[in-house]
Amino acid sequence: QYLSGNEIRNIFLGFFAQREHQILPSASLVPEDPTVLLTIAGMLPFKPIFLGQRTPEFKRATTSQKCIRTNDIENVGRTKRHQTFFEMLGNFSFGDYFKEQAIAWGWEISTQVFGISPQNLVVSVFKDDDEAFGIWRDQIGVPIARIKRLGEDDNFWALGPTGPCGPCSEIYYDFYPERGDENIDLEDDSRFIEFYNLVFMQYNRDASGNLTPLQNKNIDTGMGLERMAQILQKVPNNYETDLIFPIIQTAAEIAGIEYHKSDEKTKVSLKVIGDHVRSVVHMIADEIRASNVGRGYVLRRLIRRVVRHGRLIGISSEFTTQVAETAIALSESAYPNVRQREAAIKAELQREESNFLRTLDRGEKLLEEIIQEVKQQGNTKISGESAFTLYDTYGFPLELTQEVAEENNLTVDEAGFDAEMQKQVERAKAAHETIDLTVQGSLDKLAEHIQVTEFLGYTQSAATAKVE
Ligand code: ATP
Ligand code: MG
Ligand code: MG
Ligand code: MG
Repeated sequence: QYLSGNEIRNIFLGFFAQREHQILPSASLVPEDPTVLLTIAGMLPFKPIFLGQRTPEFKRATTSQKCIRTNDIENVGRTKRHQTFFEMLGNFSFGDYFKEQAIAWGWEISTQVFGISPQNLVVSVFKDDDEAFGIWRDQIGVPIARIKRLGEDDNFWALGPTGPCGPCSEIYYDFYPERGDENIDLEDDSRFIEFYNLVFMQYNRDASGNLTPLQNKNIDTGMGLERMAQILQKVPNNYETDLIFPIIQTAAEIAGIEYHKSDEKTKVSLKVIGDHVRSVVHMIADEIRASNVGRGYVLRRLIRRVVRHGRLIGISSEFTTQVAETAIALSESAYPNVRQREAAIKAELQREESNFLRTLDRGEKLLEEIIQEVKQQGNTKISGESAFTLYDTYGFPLELTQEVAEENNLTVDEAGFDAEMQKQVERAKAAHETIDLTVQGSLDKLAEHIQVTEFLGYTQSAATAKVE
């Protein structure tokens, strides 16, 4: 009886299409903007428009944009609301409607269309944005106790140190309105979840920090699809929505366990798998290949975490392609490119997984010995040298050593590791072995300067050609 994730996406796009927004397809996870590693928000494909570098074909647009935020990687499975991969629903105005209209539609779609009771909503505005405060209070009728003024960190948005910027207003769901309006703390995520952010791009910031009003004011918004699904499907976190849970169930089945009967730690592993498999499926579908640099390294790291968490829940055989199949099936209707790339996705996963399993076997034995030794000596820290040996000789990434260390209540001497790495670089220089580094350096640069369409074809051959 609850709306499915696919229905929520369609309803959102349809609502804004009815209000003269052009529905545009999700852009690639590989941004056109060469300075950005991965698409992190719905606005990114429109950045040239906001900067005045491109004239928009439409004054209004609406999208469901696939996003990856690696800065949320540590939150995955630990908070109820963060994944690395998520879809951001957005409505955009390019010099057309502004604050009043964006707030009115934001409220209408939340309450009338998705049927959330106004009692369950709290909004925030930027502390100095009296205009937004007034609109929420007078036009929408939100009680003032439920309009919170927040500071720069949360509620002021900027495209960069200079350029277009402006205040935001967020809409939060309140799971426990009966707790009253006196103690509203929007940071308390056991009670509140932010699901919709409205950005009012109204200023230009110059090099000395002065704000001048923009002639063409823009609206940029983002609603987390999985968060809306969590709210409407009445599940305790984004992971148990129909957008992610089937992936978790596939992994649990392979492991021979049940999610709902599992302990917290196992649930975290299942959630990591559920999220990361979505990420990697979409990344490979968008032509990213595993490597040791840039977005290729993000992909490799995510795949390795999937494998690693699979082992933690007792999966000893190769399993990523089977779990990926569920993720592919789930995204089929909204993202047809994923099924089209099925063969490439599975081949890439399989190769990375088997390579990594070999690495793991060798490294894990050594790491176990190191951990025993550290514990016997009454220490709590794995030395930088040990971590570096694992990395250098066994291909064990530092993050992995850190994760295993953490599981044993130990830490890793990161500065020591960096020092060893530095020594290695010096040694390599001395031995005239700079060739590998040069290759990596130019790959880095190449990846950064290549446009999306060219990037699709470049992967191996162009890179080699350039290096030669
Ligand atoms: P939070 O404060 O919860 O980390 P945010 O303020 O970083 O969210 P925005 O940058 O405002 O998020 O992005 C707009 C919307 O995208 C958010 O309101 C939320 O619904 C969704 N969103 C952001 N980050 C994530 C994530 N890691 N996983 C799932 N949804 C997300
Ligand atoms: Mg965030
Ligand atoms: Mg926030
Ligand atoms: Mg926000």
